[in-house]
Amino acid sequence: MIVKKHNIMIPKPRSNFVKVECDSCKNIKVLYTYSTKPVLCPSCNAELLVNTGGQAKILGNILETLD
Ligand SMILES: [Zn+2]
Repeated sequence: MIVKKHNIMIPKPRSNFVKVECDSCKNIKVLYTYSTKPVLCPSCNAELLVNTGGQAKILGNILETLD
């Protein structure tokens, strides 16, 4: 039996993830704060993150910042 080893190196980017609670439906989603695209709530389609000229703006309640 051959066991395939997956040696995938995942680079650790200097990223900023935040746990955001949707204002409308209280769904919790983890967002990448440097996202260039708007992020919508998966359950009610409210905007959770919008990009305003290169800077992401979070519209929900930030519960936690993750690294
Ligand atoms: Zn929602």
